[in-house]
Amino acid sequence: MQQESPIRDLKGVGAALELKLQRLGITTIQGLVLHLPIRYQDRTRVRALAEVGPGDECVIQGDIQSTDIVQGRRRALVCRLRDETGGITLRFFHFAAAQIKILSPGKRLRCFGEVRPGPSGLEMIHPEYRLITQDEREVTEDTLTPVYPLTEGLPQGRLRTLIHQALEQLKIRGLNDLLPLEVKQHWRLPDLLEALLYLHQPPPSANLALLETGRHPAQRRLALEELLAHHLSLLKVRQQVQQQRAQPLPSMGELEARFLQNLPFALTSAQTRVSDEVSVDLSRSTPMLRLVQGDVGSGKTMIAALAALKAIGQGYQAAVMAPTEILAEQHFSNFKVWFEPLGITVAWLAGKVKGKQRLEQLQRIASGDAALVVGTHALFQEGVTFANLVLIVIDEQHRFGVHQRLSLREKGRDGRIAPHQLIMTATPIPRTLTMTAYADLDCSIIDELPPGRTPVNTLVISDTRRDEVVERVRAACSQGRQAYWVCTLIEESDVLESQAAEMAAQYLTESLPELRIGLIHGRMKATEKAKIMSAFKAAELDLLVATTVIEVGVDVPNASLMIIENPERLGLAQLHQLRGRVGRGSVESYCVLMYHAPLSQQGRERLRVMKETTDGFKIAEKDLELRGPGEVLGTRQTGLMQLRIADLQRDADLLPDVKQIAQAVLTHEGLSDAIIQRWMGSSEAYAQV
Ligand code: ADP
Ligand code: MG
Repeated sequence: MQQESPIRDLKGVGAALELKLQRLGITTIQGLVLHLPIRYQDRTRVRALAEVGPGDECVIQGDIQSTDIVQGRRRALVCRLRDETGGITLRFFHFAAAQIKILSPGKRLRCFGEVRPGPSGLEMIHPEYRLITQDEREVTEDTLTPVYPLTEGLPQGRLRTLIHQALEQLKIRGLNDLLPLEVKQHWRLPDLLEALLYLHQPPPSANLALLETGRHPAQRRLALEELLAHHLSLLKVRQQVQQQRAQPLPSMGELEARFLQNLPFALTSAQTRVSDEVSVDLSRSTPMLRLVQGDVGSGKTMIAALAALKAIGQGYQAAVMAPTEILAEQHFSNFKVWFEPLGITVAWLAGKVKGKQRLEQLQRIASGDAALVVGTHALFQEGVTFANLVLIVIDEQHRFGVHQRLSLREKGRDGRIAPHQLIMTATPIPRTLTMTAYADLDCSIIDELPPGRTPVNTLVISDTRRDEVVERVRAACSQGRQAYWVCTLIEESDVLESQAAEMAAQYLTESLPELRIGLIHGRMKATEKAKIMSAFKAAELDLLVATTVIEVGVDVPNASLMIIENPERLGLAQLHQLRGRVGRGSVESYCVLMYHAPLSQQGRERLRVMKETTDGFKIAEKDLELRGPGEVLGTRQTGLMQLRIADLQRDADLLPDVKQIAQAVLTHEGLSDAIIQRWMGSSEAYAQV
């Protein structure tokens, strides 16, 4: 495999420039030419002044008619230019005295710049310009001019010459097209260097509309290779995991049977199927890496419980990790109820568990006395040692980014034995994303809700009708139902959101004096939150005013009404999660989306989707469409999603090809690494698991 050449090999690249290029993710000559233009300028021809219009970026030329200093709001040098077809004004706010002489009437000038409407017809402000001779005809540029994304201290012209130099070198030395010949033939892909030359130096006849929307075959060729690199990197992670050893946990079945007998319901067939898939994974001596997707309320916790019992039944430990203390605590109390009758000790660890209590829990975890450990991130912090951990369940994985997932894998590892991992998410992940962001995981889907659920009715109401909404709460609670009143995030501020919730609680207490109203928000101590939550669960409160802290996993079947204030502030996935808190019992449930007018186009669209469907997968697809993958994955810095050329939405149709091509690439020794290296560099966390 031909080595990538360091960027220093180019003429004129010293340490300072190298650093700047690094900021753009460029370290090699091959990497430099993957830095593609964001748009193009057409300097290949001179436009007639009569045919240019506002917004055009173009070359014009003509004879100078007049040049004057004008004292307006800002002093400016104003120059009138004419050609055979019309005229235009050039305006300079910064100018030297000498310029007045240079731009003297009668001279011929060629300019490049953007045409804009001015006080008296069209103008160009600060155009690039050059005096030309009367008969100078040819325009120097014979290709469209690329405009590149820049970084501070690296001017456009400098980057252009560098890339030009790199391309000239590659034309002579050749650029190793990493894609195998059979792949290129089968998918009719242009040669890499050809595609790059086209994109950096498009011919004047190039279809700009196609290029500027990223749909040119040359761009698609590169997008495909970039997506391939990402996909391969995840497959690599997966392969590395599969080389690790895990404790095989063949099912003994006895504990599970007793657990299921004690439940007041039978598993749904989807739960049974997914649980079987998990059992097969667990019986192997390679670590399980399985993602279980299931809509809110589909009963994912059962899958976790059954998996944990397989570990515990063999005398090992399992851990269940949740993203928030409320959720972790809820799991803790559920698992205690389910497991203690089976003689299993459950330990509990979160940030708030401190002092003597913490030591005690740590001791039980280290000794193996506690077979199941439930907690938050605190589980994988310094100082926590497990006796014999063989399974980690991560609930609501949506909150954890890809990197966190990888680092957890690392932390959970103990010597040569890696734990099995079961990841559960209530946010259905669009298929396109599972193929890229989650290609390192196997996937199971619980596509069925337990029987007897009634779908939530969703109403979209303006907050000018707040009184009606309050009456609705009164009516529901007077019939013995419970309700949530959710105040949404104000500009990412926990403080403001909590204040909004406090104000809402005060207002509702005044309006609904007969109701028992509780308040829960992110600024409260965890113990306070837990107290309020359990009071609501025990139906000692009728109405719970909350911030989005209740989003995840809270389970109170008697709650049948949810009001969401300013739902337009939230993404679809989050709204869906919130709404999933109601409709858990058998009574008809309602979710009122109380928006504040005016709504943006997107806001209106989101609320419409919420009203029309309760299908989490449909909502997730729509969310992806409206907000893009970074948001949908719950973290903007997934690293993974920092695509340079590809766009997951625009290029989604490439993904099935990417998957197939990856298989072909893997049959070539070392090729996968070369592709990953070229597109992602070596700095990625993917390099090591
Ligand atoms: P998820 O985590 O997928 O949102 P949970 O595991 O919290 O859902 O389950 C939601 C509710 O449904 C819980 O009250 C749980 O006891 C109940 N449940 C789970 N499985 C079943 C089933 N097969 N039949 C009836 N109820 C179930
Ligand atoms: Mg859950």
